Amino acid sequence: MNVKLLILSAVTSLLCFAHAPAFAFGAKTAGVVVSDDSGRFKIAGNILSTQQQFLQQDLRFLQTKKFSNPDSDLNSLMHISSTNGDLMESWLADRVQIIVGENLDVGKSLSVVQEGYGFENPGVFPTQEQPSAANGSILDWLLPKKDSVVMVMQNLGAALYMLGKEHNALLGFKVPNGDLVAISSPRTGIIQVGEGLFQNHDPDSKNLDSMSNRLFRLATFFHEAHHSDGNGQSLSFEHALCPAGHLYAGYYACDRNLNGPYTIGATVMRMFASNCSECSVKQIEELQLDSLDSFSRIIVQTMNDPTMDAEESAQMESGECQYVLAHPELKISAQSVAKICMSQDINAEQIAKISTSSTIWDEQPEGSR
Ligand SMILES: [Zn+2]
Repeated sequence: MNVKLLILSAVTSLLCFAHAPAFAFGAKTAGVVVSDDSGRFKIAGNILSTQQQFLQQDLRFLQTKKFSNPDSDLNSLMHISSTNGDLMESWLADRVQIIVGENLDVGKSLSVVQEGYGFENPGVFPTQEQPSAANGSILDWLLPKKDSVVMVMQNLGAALYMLGKEHNALLGFKVPNGDLVAISSPRTGIIQVGEGLFQNHDPDSKNLDSMSNRLFRLATFFHEAHHSDGNGQSLSFEHALCPAGHLYAGYYACDRNLNGPYTIGATVMRMFASNCSECSVKQIEELQLDSLDSFSRIIVQTMNDPTMDAEESAQMESGECQYVLAHPELKISAQSVAKICMSQDINAEQIAKISTSSTIWDEQPEGSR
C-alpha cells in the first residue's frame, strides 16, 4: 500500500491549530534525539535547537510546579488526585513520547511491520462529519480558506495508528535516531510540532521564554495529547466541523463531546490563568481569552433543526455561554454576556426539546504502546 498518499486524508480532523507564520531561528541537528530531564519525552533533532530548549524548559517547569489554586474539573477530567505539575506531567507522558519537527518526511519514516494485524474494534472508526448544506454553502467548504496555514502541533501517532487500522497493517515509525516504534496504539505518542507553536502570545513581551508563552505551549500539548485516547467511535477524539455561524465555521476545530481535547485545553488554560502569580493583568486576561476560545469550540447541544438561524444555533450549541454564566469570577460585563448568550430568552428546557446533548466519550485507548 502507498502510505504516503494516504497520510493527508487520515489527518484532516486531527490538525488542530493553525496560525499566521512566525520567524524561526536556531540550528537543527538531524538524527539526534535529546531527552527532557525526566527521560520520558524524546525531542528530535529536526527541531531547531532553540525550540528544543524551550520544550525542555517547559517540561521542567511542569514537572516541579505546585499549583496553589487547584481546579477540581481538571482533576476529574485527568483522573488525578490533585492539581500538581508532576501528576499532570505523568498524564502527558502516558500520551506523548516522541516530539518531532514539521520538516520530517513522514512517508520516509514509515514502514509496514505486519500486514493483517489484529486491531481492537476491527472496522469501527469515528464518524467523520462531512460538510453539508445545513452547515453553510457547499462552496464555503470547497474554496480554500483565506488564512495561510502554519502548523502548530499535531498528534501524528494517532493519525498513523488510524491509517494502519484502516489498512489492517501495523505501521512502524523510524525515529530520527534510527529507533523503530511500532504504532500499536493511538497512545504511541508521536507529536509533531511546527513553527506556530513558537509564536509570541505574550501581550507584554516578545520573549518566547516568558511565562505566558510557556503556558500557551504547555496547554497546546495537553490538548494534543488527548488525541492519543479513545477507541472505536471515540478513537483519537477527532474534531467536529464547527457549525455555520461559529467563528471557526468550516474548520474541524470543534468537539461534539464534553471531554475532548478542547475541554482539556480550555480547563488547563483556565487553571494556568488562575495560578500565574508572575503574570500581569494583561497576560492573565490573554490566557483567559485563550481558555474561552477553547470553551467556545465545545458543542454542548446539537440542534435538531438544520434550518434554524445559523448564528443563533451556533451560540446555543457552543459551550462559551454556559462557561461565562458558570464563572462570574471572570467579571465579564453583562453586555458581553448578553452578546455571548444571545439566545438567553430560550430556556434550558426549550433547548433540550429541540437539540441533542453532547456526552462524555469513552477515553480508554485501543492497544498499548
Ligand atoms: Zn485537536
